[in-house]
Amino acid sequence: MEKQYNPYDNVLKVVQEAADILGYSDSDIEAIKYPERELKVSIPVRMDDGTTHVFEGYRIQHSTSRGPAKGGIRFHPAVNADEVRALAAWMTFKCAVVNIPYGGGKGGVVCDPTHLSENEIRAITRRFTAAIAPLIGPEQDIPAPDVGTNAAVMGWMMDTYSMLKGHCIHGVVTGKPIELGGALGRNEATGRGVMFTTKNILHKLNMNVEGTTVAIQGMGNVGSITAKLLHQEGMKIVAVSDVSGGIYNANGLDIPAILAYLAKDRKNLLKDYNEDGMTRISNEELLELDVQVLVPAALENQINGTNADKIKAPVIVEAANGPVASEADEILEKKGTVVVPDILANAGGVVVSYFEWVQNIQSVSWTEEAVNQNLKEIMDPSFEAVWDIAKEKNVTLRTGAYLIAVKRVVDAKAARAIWP
Ligand code: NAD
Repeated sequence: MEKQYNPYDNVLKVVQEAADILGYSDSDIEAIKYPERELKVSIPVRMDDGTTHVFEGYRIQHSTSRGPAKGGIRFHPAVNADEVRALAAWMTFKCAVVNIPYGGGKGGVVCDPTHLSENEIRAITRRFTAAIAPLIGPEQDIPAPDVGTNAAVMGWMMDTYSMLKGHCIHGVVTGKPIELGGALGRNEATGRGVMFTTKNILHKLNMNVEGTTVAIQGMGNVGSITAKLLHQEGMKIVAVSDVSGGIYNANGLDIPAILAYLAKDRKNLLKDYNEDGMTRISNEELLELDVQVLVPAALENQINGTNADKIKAPVIVEAANGPVASEADEILEKKGTVVVPDILANAGGVVVSYFEWVQNIQSVSWTEEAVNQNLKEIMDPSFEAVWDIAKEKNVTLRTGAYLIAVKRVVDAKAARAIWP
């Protein structure tokens, strides 16, 4: 029987690998193998047709050793405890690799927002927020958008939490609408960080930015902004996809037209988009295209044991969390494919979330230029540090990133010691 994919196993494997290189004992890393807290909730919602439906939700805090838990809320049919656990742990190591004072958490609701009305999504959001309210707060655990959620959902979360507490609390979530204390630049931050990272890796590999061919899987918040910014930098985006499938044009797609079409209505999908010279491809075909840079920006486990040997791109920039499974990592390493790991490549989102939280706490607001500049000043040195340690230890960039991140988390845990 085929082994069931469990993303948390991937986390444990790479943490163990880093710990071995760092010379840590089992005791040194024992505590970071387990999430600190897990809450499962039932969310009854009165649907538009008058029926009651109970949704399943989670909030998991992997670590609060370096600061409050931090991480997104996912609304997707495939959400489950193992996935949320892995996503929470990735947040711990992501915040550590870019050295911002947070631990890691994640939440999710098993639902399909593409088949729900705005009313139903708001009702799920409010009841879910109330159910996890004992865990979250600006000093404990700060949610943000992830797959299937956006600034509007964060606005409803902030409002619900504030109503329950009896006063306005901006800092409970990040990625909020600007009118509610959202940071300028947060909406673009993850994609902007992916753009900085892509340019950094191309520079290290002596590859051009101008004209370099790119395929992007997923055209949500992260994929679409990545497409926009890489296109603006002069790269040739030859393929993009969403849940409905992909489109391809060897001469480069009309990215501004695609973005305008997708922005017009949240129900718009690429299967109904058309432009001269394009052909339709599947998500599987997109991953296997002969391009220079592949950017998976959708879900976990897209590149795995079954398709890793068919990947032709020499460079993969992980905009999604966990798109390359462990067994694929091994195959890609042997082939010489360079994989820039998720905890580094997509950290721009949490970095600007941190800026948003800092602004909320101080009741100040920064300009978008300041946000973007400060983001660059964190992303570029973080990339350099990962590159340098990977070269020094002769390991992959993923292992390099974990060498830095695991050390920071273990050091913080050791400095606090085990209570009591
Ligand atoms: P989103 O909901 O805005 O977009 C998801 C996109 O993936 C959509 O275009 C959807 O159609 C597509 N998709 C869904 N299932 C698919 C499938 N089976 N095959 C191909 N495409 C599929 O989500 P997002 O916020 O852009 O997040 C994408 C990834 O980036 C996730 O892994 C998320 O955890 C990660 N991430 C997001 C942020 C953020 O700030 N939003 C930050 C860091 C990492």
